[in-house]
Amino acid sequence: MTEGRIQKALSGFYYVDTGHEIVTCRARGKFRREGISPLVGDRVEIQEVGNGEGVVETILPRRNAFVRPAVANIDQMVVVASGAIPRTDPFLIDRVAAIAALMGCDVLVLLNKCDLDRADELYQTYQAAGFPTLRISAETGEGLEDLPPLIAGKLSAFTGNSGVGKSSVLNALDPGFSLQVGEVSDALGRGRHTTRHVELYRLSCGAEVVDSPGFSSFETTELNLELKRRLPETFLEFAPYLDRCRFQGCSHTKEQGCAVREALRAGKIQKSRYASYLRLYEELKPLRDWQ
Ligand code: GDP
Ligand code: ZN
Repeated sequence: MTEGRIQKALSGFYYVDTGHEIVTCRARGKFRREGISPLVGDRVEIQEVGNGEGVVETILPRRNAFVRPAVANIDQMVVVASGAIPRTDPFLIDRVAAIAALMGCDVLVLLNKCDLDRADELYQTYQAAGFPTLRISAETGEGLEDLPPLIAGKLSAFTGNSGVGKSSVLNALDPGFSLQVGEVSDALGRGRHTTRHVELYRLSCGAEVVDSPGFSSFETTELNLELKRRLPETFLEFAPYLDRCRFQGCSHTKEQGCAVREALRAGKIQKSRYASYLRLYEELKPLRDWQ
């Protein structure tokens, strides 16, 4: 048996990176019978049959698994944001951060385009809220040297609103990246077809990244329901206060004796983070379990 990581899944084939080569695999029929499908990002054991071909025999335990995009074992969500052109609404960052917490992923905030705007407010908020936060510029290269140690050896998903510079950052980190993506796009004829496909790329610094069309919309009803159930704990900086509220089952939205709101007044919780909490709370409220 050989161990590897599924790098790409396409038309029933799994492309498994063993560290030496990419082995083209089919999956054992038992997976389908058990209702499990191997996912991009899965660590697997394969039986090689020669000619660069093999069979996926075992899926190793997952850290997490997303339905949309279909990808497993994301270690870290890299949220790319920008202070200008376009300015990122912190709510977008907070929503992704909440989902990351739900799924057991770390979060790294990258404030790109710092050559145009220092994004002081965003920087202060995310630093104070306890997120690793970097100011960078894909254009001038400022701050990029701090990035490899934070992403090497991990599988990161790059997310962020369109135009903040996700592709530019990846290209600045690794000029080979656009080449890889270009090759895939050509092979798939992306643009002509709308094949939904997720792929994992390895950067020269040893980081693995997943970049897929529409990654920023990785929400499902199921995920939102889970978020509704566990919302307070997905705002990690609320943790020290959650069991200090006067009422059990406190929603931390308006109750008297709420320790979260007390921490907010004392400046220990950032205003815009709390505003996002309230907004998510209201957004998720109408969701029903039977939906
Ligand atoms: P994506 O949609 O998030 O992948 O964004 P792109 O990487 O396509 O970048 C969108 C636009 O922003 C492009 O015109 C880039 O040249 C520009 N851009 C990206 N990073 C920077 C930066 O750090 N500074 C400046 N001034 N422009 C940038
Ligand atoms: Zn409370």
